[in-house]
Amino acid sequence: METTGPTVSASHPPPRYAVGLTGGIGCGKTTVADLFAARGAAVVDTDRIAHGLTAPHGAAMPALIDAFGPDYATPDGALDRARMRALVFSDPHARARLEAILHPRIREATAAAALLAGGPYTIFAVPLLIESGTWRERVARVLAIDCPEATQVARVMARNGLAEEQVRAIMAAQVSRARRLEEADDVILNDAGIDALLPQVERLHRFYLDEAARLAEQTSKRL
Ligand code: ATP
Repeated sequence: METTGPTVSASHPPPRYAVGLTGGIGCGKTTVADLFAARGAAVVDTDRIAHGLTAPHGAAMPALIDAFGPDYATPDGALDRARMRALVFSDPHARARLEAILHPRIREATAAAALLAGGPYTIFAVPLLIESGTWRERVARVLAIDCPEATQVARVMARNGLAEEQVRAIMAAQVSRARRLEEADDVILNDAGIDALLPQVERLHRFYLDEAARLAEQTSKRL
């Protein structure tokens, strides 16, 4: 049978230009994502989506209660995060079961949010993008938000009231700054005030707009 190239339908929307935004804890992912959103980019925050799935009566809660029992839910029907954290910390099988429930649902909810988001291109904010392995192929560019480790520690201590060792323990569970920079196509250095971010965001926003327009043109020629 002869094929006539890609078709577009509700279940097969045209490809959209997508950027994966990542960075270590406290590097400024949310701060930078907000600046892109203010310029019209569609921002999909995977952390927020993941939290929503395990919030009171979130979409993942029935499957989690089935798998782990009602003791892992709080009285208002949310995931008991402290209890689950303690379990998966000591039991890799439990971690795998938790991830098998959450990851496909996060993927699905993320794709649905991206479809609804509009905007000329999409920025997926994914804290563990490099670590997860499956995100790289879903985005055209990886944008790392970078800052010195001492700045990360100071920001998170100030924001969350954590001790330095606690912040460093979280950082130790994430990829190193060097590895993240190696994997990134684009980098925004966030080691000064907000004013220093603006020209960097402007430049990349214009670049992503151009690339999104190029992708749209290529797609329309193929249809
Ligand atoms: P997390 O990984 O915890 O989600 P994040 O990477 O999204 O963090 P933000 O929440 O954007 O980082 O920033 C961490 C903290 O540092 C916030 O309190 C934020 O207001 C502050 N911050 C970020 N960038 C700057 C900056 N350039 N100047 C001053 N404060 C900043």
